[in-house]
Amino acid sequence: MEAAPSYEKTVGEEMMRLAATLFPIFRSMTGEGVRETLRILKGHVPLTIQEVPTGTKVLDWEVPHEWNCRDAYIRDESGERLVDLRASNLHVVSYSVPVREKLPWREIEKHIFTLPDQPDRIPYRTAFFERTWGFCSSHDELERIRRRDRESGGEKRYEVCVDSTLEEGSLTYGELLLPGEEPEEVLFSTHICHPSLANDNLSGLAVATFLARHLGRRKNRYSYRFLFIPATIGSITWLARNRDGVTRVRHGMVLRLLGDRGEMTYKRSRRGDAMIDRAAAHVLRHSGTSSAIVDFRPTGGDERQFCSPGFDLPVGCLMRTPEERYPEYHTSADDLDRIGAGQLGDSWARCAEIVEVLEGDAVYLNQKPYGEPRLGTRGLYRAYGKLGNGEEIQHAVLWVLSQSDGKHSLLDIADRSGIRFAVIRKAADLLLKTELLREAEGGEGGGR
Ligand code: ZN
Repeated sequence: MEAAPSYEKTVGEEMMRLAATLFPIFRSMTGEGVRETLRILKGHVPLTIQEVPTGTKVLDWEVPHEWNCRDAYIRDESGERLVDLRASNLHVVSYSVPVREKLPWREIEKHIFTLPDQPDRIPYRTAFFERTWGFCSSHDELERIRRRDRESGGEKRYEVCVDSTLEEGSLTYGELLLPGEEPEEVLFSTHICHPSLANDNLSGLAVATFLARHLGRRKNRYSYRFLFIPATIGSITWLARNRDGVTRVRHGMVLRLLGDRGEMTYKRSRRGDAMIDRAAAHVLRHSGTSSAIVDFRPTGGDERQFCSPGFDLPVGCLMRTPEERYPEYHTSADDLDRIGAGQLGDSWARCAEIVEVLEGDAVYLNQKPYGEPRLGTRGLYRAYGKLGNGEEIQHAVLWVLSQSDGKHSLLDIADRSGIRFAVIRKAADLLLKTELLREAEGGEGGGR
């Protein structure tokens, strides 16, 4: 089943609206922003919100204190806020410890982060496992404050306030399981911890949510599990709590950076030749536009945890422009203008197609393997006409018959023939109806 272009467009627009709703929420690794985000997602898909208490041992880590921040600013003597959390969620370093002090500018500056080579952008910074405080500002703004401070003699004191709490609480994540005919699972994971960044965070959240909604409305062969988790510590926490359950994961993808205008990029799992790696490569190759397949490396998103050697799950990562080629990454320029309904819809459609490959792959046996069977007497030529593009389906039928010796899956056949999986699948369905094909023993494909 392929999504019609008009449906893809509608979903793209819905995803864009969701991203716009989520954009202003002040998220961090833990805290109320994450809960509020998950509550909004719950309006779209029936996910369960999990709370894991501070201090819980998770693999080599520990669930951290919960962080919430009501306000943060640097104020001059006249009461003017020079840096103000209310102006941008990026202005305070995430996980800053509470502070309320009067300090000279030269002291404050040690706690300010800017991007000198992108002077009009505010960086996104975190201090998750340090006990410190800090602010982020555009470099231009920093220069302005510096100049004013110097002009007034440099002895002024400024009020620094981070009205935050860092205390016992919990790490919050969302989880959704859509049971299929089989207990084996396909895992989709996306992070939920970034404040007001659109491509790096909201795009993945939107695509995962609407993919879950799509799969939840139909019957599936596989069970589908969606994780909405804070990056790194979230996947570590989930893996720690599901050490036995992970053996059910047959395929998976981390979804991130899916809304920018760049081409699609698939990063392979650590295994490199897992079924998901082949399915994603197949779909991107046939997507009609340029795309890239890159090999696994132990940097990037939560695939680092899923693919750590002890787990070694077949989990790749689907994105558009990778972070190292995305100059807006982790800056205030990664705003809603960087993402678009068209790109979100396209990313969503590629995910849905990859799912179709996973769902539809199988190994069959040609029941008339000696010479070519007569197709006309079985009504196949008439059937081609009804399917449109008669020649392609005709070739696909010949390929399926030729390769179905119990050793080649439909994806193998699609790759070898250069024909799209969806067409090969249709050809197999036609042949199953005429009983020229039957499923091979243990031949469900899907890399099992
Ligand atoms: Zn990020």
